[in-house]
Amino acid sequence: MFLYPFTDITFFVLLPALIFALYAQSHVNTTFNRYLRQPARIGWNGAQVARALLDKSGLSQVQIKMTRGRLGDHYDPTTKSLNLSPEVYNGTSVAAIGVAAHETGHAVQHAQAYAPLSFRNSLYPVASFGSTLAFPLFFLGLVFSPNSGLMDIGIWLFSFALLFQLVTLPVEYNASSRALRLLTSEGYITSDEAPKTKAVLSAAALTYVAAAAMSAMQLVRLLLLRNMRRDRN
Ligand SMILES: [Zn+2]
Repeated sequence: MFLYPFTDITFFVLLPALIFALYAQSHVNTTFNRYLRQPARIGWNGAQVARALLDKSGLSQVQIKMTRGRLGDHYDPTTKSLNLSPEVYNGTSVAAIGVAAHETGHAVQHAQAYAPLSFRNSLYPVASFGSTLAFPLFFLGLVFSPNSGLMDIGIWLFSFALLFQLVTLPVEYNASSRALRLLTSEGYITSDEAPKTKAVLSAAALTYVAAAAMSAMQLVRLLLLRNMRRDRN
């Protein structure tokens, strides 16, 4: 029997994606650390900028809350609230107001029923179910019962989780482009500040690309493991 997860040869298909993910993570950290220290000229904090942009977009009913945790910023469609981490909520840097505007972008997407977001939200239940059960079912099948179809069920469930991550990409990039458009058209960032805000948002988006790449390679690995296992029978 194989010893998982490190000793079988298929683990090596994950390595490039793993290196990419580590790079994306360190890139987002260094970019945020750099631009969280650069105050934007407007002098407003993330919460003030988000409030102004939401009101401007006709979303005065969307609340802004402070949430715990670094980079835990998100828009919650169930409560229609913007949840900003303390350093974004209170921060006046080009990074802080960029993240605040990005989350505002998600609220606008939700209000406009932006199609990729609606699709992503409809995928969410099966994707979260899939990502929880895919590996246990797959490895049960692999170890105990290679012809039972368990491995195939695991692969299908994992495919939904991957699809969810792929649909997340246009949602994230679109929220960032909305953010930059809102910030520049309203004059909240100047033309020389815009590239810095863009760098922050691009670095954050790259982590989503890396996560999707990692899942895609996981799927390749599951397919390889299944085929190798069946060939042995
Ligand atoms: Zn986002």
